[in-house]
Amino acid sequence: MIFLKTEDEIELMRAANQVVAGALAEIAKIIRPGITTKELDKLAEEYIRDNGAIPTFKGFPNPYGPAFPASIFASVNDEVVHGIPSDRPLESGDIVSVDCGALLNEFNGDSCYTFCVGEVTEEAKNLLKVTKESLYLGIETAIAGKRIGDISYAVQQHCESNGYGVVKEFVGHGIGKKMHEDPAVPNYGRRGNGPLIKNGLCIAIEPMITLGSPKIGMMPDRWTVKTSDGKLAAHFEHTIAIHHGKAEILSSFEEIEKIEGKLY
Ligand code: MG
Ligand code: MG
Repeated sequence: MIFLKTEDEIELMRAANQVVAGALAEIAKIIRPGITTKELDKLAEEYIRDNGAIPTFKGFPNPYGPAFPASIFASVNDEVVHGIPSDRPLESGDIVSVDCGALLNEFNGDSCYTFCVGEVTEEAKNLLKVTKESLYLGIETAIAGKRIGDISYAVQQHCESNGYGVVKEFVGHGIGKKMHEDPAVPNYGRRGNGPLIKNGLCIAIEPMITLGSPKIGMMPDRWTVKTSDGKLAAHFEHTIAIHHGKAEILSSFEEIEKIEGKLY
């Protein structure tokens, strides 16, 4: 069941997503070689709580193992999603996808950014560029009257035409009072298919894109998902609302890009 949001609810969604955007911006300020993803997690959790919100991912249940122990998913290099923050210092050349969620006034924010640590290869930079571009192409396609499959197609077409793999096992989603609501928003699909896009629809669009094969595998910790071929993966995510017929981005990369520079 899809819950369309009122104008007031969209404003509450924006507030929650701005907390997430702020937490990711805090990470952008300090991410560098030598820092650990556990330190990034601590910073994000403090920021979220200082802003009166709750880190959604902390304690997130897992039917196959322990609940998630941290406030961010930190996925390094060949880790696609759901990486557990660790004590391993980051090295120059690493890429780190930081996925963050916050609950504020009963509504959820959800956004992810893949950061570069020190100097990364051109190959990695291009993967990040194309993945981020595909996110924005998906967002541009999210217009009232179109269908979810139009978003899916836009993301898939851009990534695959650049030679990259599209992860199929994880998808974007509706978002609101629950972190994951209907509809599913796959990063692959056919134009004109799937649920109709209407005003009040709030969704997280989140391409998870691989340098090589899109095949993935689950690690023994029952959280971390890696590429099967050990090649890099990237992940960018915005939460959007359909408002006055078109997509409004409720999360934000603006502060991150001021720090990181707009590579792409
Ligand atoms: Mg997320
Ligand atoms: Mg999400």
